[in-house]
Amino acid sequence: MKLRYRYRIYPTDEQQKHLAREFGAARYAYNWALRLRSDSFRNGVRLNDLKTSAAWTKERRSLPWASETSCVPPQQALRHLQTAFVNFFDKRLGYPTFKKKAQKQSAEYTRSAFQYDPATRELSFAKFGAVKVRWSRAFVSDPTTATITKSPSGRYHVTLCLDESEPKPLLKTGEVVGIDLGLHRLATLSNGERIANPRYQGHRLRELAHAQRTLARRKKGSGRRNRARLKVARIQEKIADTRDDHLHKLTLDLVRRFDFLAIEDLHVRGMVQNRSLARSISDASFGKFRTLLEYKAKWYGKQVVVIDRFYPSSKTCSACGWINQALTLTMRDWTCKECGAIHDRDENAAKNILATGQVVTARGGGIRLKRTPVRKSTRRRSVKQQGAA
Ligand SMILES: [Zn+2]
Repeated sequence: MKLRYRYRIYPTDEQQKHLAREFGAARYAYNWALRLRSDSFRNGVRLNDLKTSAAWTKERRSLPWASETSCVPPQQALRHLQTAFVNFFDKRLGYPTFKKKAQKQSAEYTRSAFQYDPATRELSFAKFGAVKVRWSRAFVSDPTTATITKSPSGRYHVTLCLDESEPKPLLKTGEVVGIDLGLHRLATLSNGERIANPRYQGHRLRELAHAQRTLARRKKGSGRRNRARLKVARIQEKIADTRDDHLHKLTLDLVRRFDFLAIEDLHVRGMVQNRSLARSISDASFGKFRTLLEYKAKWYGKQVVVIDRFYPSSKTCSACGWINQALTLTMRDWTCKECGAIHDRDENAAKNILATGQVVTARGGGIRLKRTPVRKSTRRRSVKQQGAA
């Protein structure tokens, strides 16, 4: 399993200039290979990873700037492109797109291209020497790769990656939970707990909307537009930082307390398009939440089950299984016409997510889990609905 540690770094002016060339080289290789593979794909030939690498080695020799930059980031960029193609062919993601200069820049270095000394905590790179790192969390192991990134607002980070073969299982608690992710609240648990969105989000969203309106008014290519662009990027990064911090703490707390966690597949990519600002930000949170939860659960020996997004978790009564077809998005509470149960919309959904997750798991792996307050009848009906879907 791979562990990632991200730190802020402060390259000197000289190093920044050099890094711009390293980012450029990686981006060039990625886009060059993407064009090559797309062209041959259109001609009915599937160019594999090996052939692409061989062609790149030749191409690199003809480039005037090749000797000034490390050969590793372009090689790693080709690897990332290969992963993007695998994801595309497996229908997990869309067709790879070209990398642009205005996006986040990155260059990945393998062990041959950088050195890390745990005693002095010095991190240095072959072509541009030691960089100043703010070691915000402890790091002692031997990293296998180091990725330097530059955000659109101009901040630099390094992500150190290391392979840990031994997971660290946490004590089992015997507790299970269903989690409903929402817009009004970040999450609602099947036991009735409510988890709010990060506090400063509302204020920052207004700030962001204002900055984006300003940016839209600025003339293309002007200095004022560039400053407005930086301001938008800085606010977006602040929102993402606060969100990530919040999600890290939340997911760790959840895997500590529960052995079995059921969530709903919200199909994040599809949701982000054409929505309001608040919506798109919370959609980004959902994706991040799931990634972190799955990663931490794997690491700490807990289990996450992701249930089908077409399962009507909000509309089904968690007490009797009746489906409320009249339920609209604005209704926060509702009463079941079949059994009279009064439901908080999200808590009811969380209960159903848990019940369905348990059914799916029981059928798949035969694992026995602790009973939840959800009645037996719900589970039976859930099986039927799952089968029909
Ligand atoms: Zn009911």
